[in-house]
Amino acid sequence: MARTTIHCATDGCTGTMDVQGNNRRDADYRAKKLVERGWTCRDCDNREAAAAAVAAGLPALEGSDKQVAWANGIRNATISRIEHLLKEAPSIRNLDGGGFGYNADAVEMALLIRKAGQPAVDAAFAAMKAETDARFWIDGRMDAMHVQLAAVVDRLAEEERALSPEGKAEAAAEQEAMEEATLRPAEPVSETIAELSFRDGVFAARYDERSDAFNGTVKAMGYRWDAAAMAWTRPFDPLTMGAPVDRLAETAHELLAAGLVVALHDPEARAKAVARSYDPEHRRWISVITEGANKGKFRLTWGRDEDLYGVFRGLRGAAYRGKMCLVPATSRDEVLDFAEAHAFRLTPGAEAMAAEVLERRERGVVVEATARPKAEAQPRGSRPNAMHVPSDVTLHDDLVDHD
Ligand SMILES: [Zn+2]
Repeated sequence: MARTTIHCATDGCTGTMDVQGNNRRDADYRAKKLVERGWTCRDCDNREAAAAAVAAGLPALEGSDKQVAWANGIRNATISRIEHLLKEAPSIRNLDGGGFGYNADAVEMALLIRKAGQPAVDAAFAAMKAETDARFWIDGRMDAMHVQLAAVVDRLAEEERALSPEGKAEAAAEQEAMEEATLRPAEPVSETIAELSFRDGVFAARYDERSDAFNGTVKAMGYRWDAAAMAWTRPFDPLTMGAPVDRLAETAHELLAAGLVVALHDPEARAKAVARSYDPEHRRWISVITEGANKGKFRLTWGRDEDLYGVFRGLRGAAYRGKMCLVPATSRDEVLDFAEAHAFRLTPGAEAMAAEVLERRERGVVVEATARPKAEAQPRGSRPNAMHVPSDVTLHDDLVDHD
């Protein structure tokens, strides 16, 4: 590596820069090329940019000296580029065909004009030129021109709205409604507001903050994260979940208990959440699978924070398949005893299945057959166990024909 120092081309300026090269010859060559092209130092460039801005009638920028020096150059380039694109945009003839053959940035600008209208775009550009905050220019420097301009169009529209009587009325009404809807715990863990809703048969819970208290609470209540909806959601099941308003109230109450601020727009749900007058959700259910390979089996479900798996496994024929706790319908009697012992309720379908099994058994259709135990694995070459032959074989009375 080698370095060669070059000097600023401005008369009287002492600014320098070191030019690097792979070797002495290379460094000297690169330095010579830059000098030939009239290299000037950054201070001179900044002064020139500031002078150009003054000449163009742009206001002085505000910020630290370094920010202002940098932003002047960005602003000059941005404004001249936008001016150029605004001039080119109206000449694009085939905008609906994607503006094929035209500069892509000019096509984007033409689309913005069509969407927002020429007056709004002109007003936004005027507002940009009047912008004196150096940070505005520095922050926007990586964005495409139409993106920067569109952001100003949107901001001006929002400002117009906020300044208009209708906009003020709307904002005030929204704020009042939100205040009315908001429930606060005695000691909130955060000021972020959890929003609960029930629409189209789905409960949704939203929270704009990463929070274990929130996630843990809604998860324990059966909500799952729905990435598309950007919310925790839970489908409503009329068979097992009671009244939707009670479920909203219960979720709100649990979130409040976890120290979270909650917005609930339904007044009845809100009142119930505060008074805790909702029917708590019954979480222990026995239902029946109505389709697929497990059709006709009892399914047991219980709260996520409850541990009933061990007792469930004690039921005859109990199996965990497809994330479901299943018991064959023929274990009806054990299932009913289990339900009574552990406060499980039966859905109407499960009630019907229990009755049907009983009826079939009374008609003698259901044979309470027990599969023979699986043979123990035998070491290769060893003798199998002798077969067990029952000494006394009889036929069940029901199966004997009485002529
Ligand atoms: Zn200089």
